[in-house]
Amino acid sequence: MEEFSRIQEKYTAEAQKRLRPDGTAQYQVLSQSDSNHLRHLVDDIWADHASLDALPSPIKSGDCPKFLIIGAGMGGLVSAVRLIQAGFTADQIRIIDTAGGIGGTWYWNRYPGLHCDIESYIYLPLLEEMGYMPSHKYIPGVEIRHYLNDIVKRWDLKDKILLRTKADKVEWDDGARLWKVDLTTQRGPTGAENVSLTVKAEFVLLTAGLLTRPQIPRLPGAGIDGFKGDLFHTSLWNYAITGGSSEDTVPVLSKLEGKRVGIIGTGATAIQVVPYLAKHAKEVYVFQRTPSGVYARNQRATDPEEWKKVTAQPGWELERNKNFASHISGSASPGTPDLVNDEWSKQPAYSALVGDEKFALVAPEKIPEVIGYFMARDAENSARLRARIATIVKDEETAKKLTPWYPAWCKRNTFSDTYLQTFNEPHVHLIDTDGRGVDGATAHSIVANGQEYPLDILVLSTGYQSPAVLENAAARADIKLFGRGGKTIPESWASTGTATLHGYASHGFPNLFWLSPSQTGVGANHAFTLDTQCRHIAYVVATAHKRVGGLTKGGLMIEVEEAAQEAWSQRIVQGAGRFATMAICTPSYINNEGHIMDPNASPEEMVKRARASPYSGGIVRFLKELDTWREGDKLSGIEVTIS
Ligand code: NDP
Repeated sequence: MEEFSRIQEKYTAEAQKRLRPDGTAQYQVLSQSDSNHLRHLVDDIWADHASLDALPSPIKSGDCPKFLIIGAGMGGLVSAVRLIQAGFTADQIRIIDTAGGIGGTWYWNRYPGLHCDIESYIYLPLLEEMGYMPSHKYIPGVEIRHYLNDIVKRWDLKDKILLRTKADKVEWDDGARLWKVDLTTQRGPTGAENVSLTVKAEFVLLTAGLLTRPQIPRLPGAGIDGFKGDLFHTSLWNYAITGGSSEDTVPVLSKLEGKRVGIIGTGATAIQVVPYLAKHAKEVYVFQRTPSGVYARNQRATDPEEWKKVTAQPGWELERNKNFASHISGSASPGTPDLVNDEWSKQPAYSALVGDEKFALVAPEKIPEVIGYFMARDAENSARLRARIATIVKDEETAKKLTPWYPAWCKRNTFSDTYLQTFNEPHVHLIDTDGRGVDGATAHSIVANGQEYPLDILVLSTGYQSPAVLENAAARADIKLFGRGGKTIPESWASTGTATLHGYASHGFPNLFWLSPSQTGVGANHAFTLDTQCRHIAYVVATAHKRVGGLTKGGLMIEVEEAAQEAWSQRIVQGAGRFATMAICTPSYINNEGHIMDPNASPEEMVKRARASPYSGGIVRFLKELDTWREGDKLSGIEVTIS
């Protein structure tokens, strides 16, 4: 094994090389760009406006649905289903989304090669109820999108969803015990005929997602806008430019023939895209700032016989998810089989990012020891990862440049059986910038390391605005939200910092629930994190209804008590020290571009940041906590009243 202290020094040197004083300000969000051209790169090219315009609207001004769910991605759809399973009806639910279709990230993202990076048997929600067998262990994005549409049909939600609709303002009316919501619905492709609606709702759920705003680097001069060839961001793959179709599992990018294509970025998205560019373009230039850790994928079709075994026991999906999470967190008891058994489930140090039982509480003086522990736990895995590159990439220099120098928990792990292999092809060029990033753009080239690389097409695989910039669910959904007394979330949390019970609701915002990683149990499988929150919210709402004698005609108020959220927030603070493991990481959206720890922050500021952390014990322990909390249906810490 590589010598430990040398590795540590290398990690520090590589992270320092990439740390920039401008942090997240190095990026511009495409939708907020001054450039008309760049702003339009996030127009909804998938929406069928004529068909959508012809549909009757499920929401009219003055309506008062019981539940208004803001976001029709996985979180919003699963929220709706869990409410229905808890005893409510589809008719009581209305869902809105800014997109022209459902699926959230799986609606927008349609780039070639898109797959779920977590085993689909645990990634797809509601598999048991749907009786669906995924085609592969890791299914393509188009299959996920169709599956989510099937969920909508199965639970009779199709005509409850208003698409192309944004919630602008959400205000609590204490007298009426209702939320008043101002919406704008797009009509037609240009938005010229937009319609404003005002509705009320007893309950509002904010489910608008985490990585929603595509971003690009700010570069000198006109920046990316200076490039006059074809360009697009991976979040909205432009098949009109490349050829192929978003409905194809294996798109044929016929229009890339004879073209020089550049791609900026080498994150989880680019790892899936690059092999497709390599297959079809004449020359491919991959502009790299930091290499990704690329593990083997070992993709395979689902064997129906194996599937029968996987699904034999009722409750298998929850158990398989717990099994996966316990292996990642190292909390599986000896002898527990590894059901998923892939490169993810063999990431013994990933719990440094998502929490685990063993280090749920870490005193400040113990932080260096804990970091050392995780480094040691990751050492063999990372050494194996690095050694693998040299066995695949033939050119020694290229292999070296593709080698990541950070522990496994610092960036999203990636998996591919084709990405590294493409660099053996003579027309694929790795343009490594040794941590600096690209220098700029001219009308027909990207400049890196002081050299111009002429291109016909530029693909921007440069990720999304960090959730650290937009710390609460309303800000992430770009909603003006006012709770009791007209207070916003930042105003309500101004003196304390984040304050919730179990991460999904806060005092002063009755009948409002959200999905967010702060103060809640998280894991490598984000779909499971969402489902855990959705189940719990549905349980709380249904139990509150039972307490007041069943279904109400309004007047029910469910509100987290201040003391309970303070106690929970203190628990989060006590466990937050263990997330100092992120401070040694190379910069990324996960650690606020390396500025997760501000050496000049006051003690009050440090506590506020700690309060925004996830639950430190990992998702398996979080589930146990929720189970214990639910015993006797006491709803401890939640006030339930009826007017
Ligand atoms: P990332 O933020 O992970 O990657 C952005 C890339 O752009 C990085 O390689 C970054 O380099 C690079 N970059 C940024 N600025 C510059 C610059 N100035 N010059 C050169 N390169 C630059 O975004 P992704 O879209 O790849 O992934 C985002 C997330 O989406 C993942 O972390 C994952 O959670 C999710 N995802 C999930 C998938 C799934 O299968 N479920 C598939 C794909 C993505 P640097 O690293 O140096 O910052």
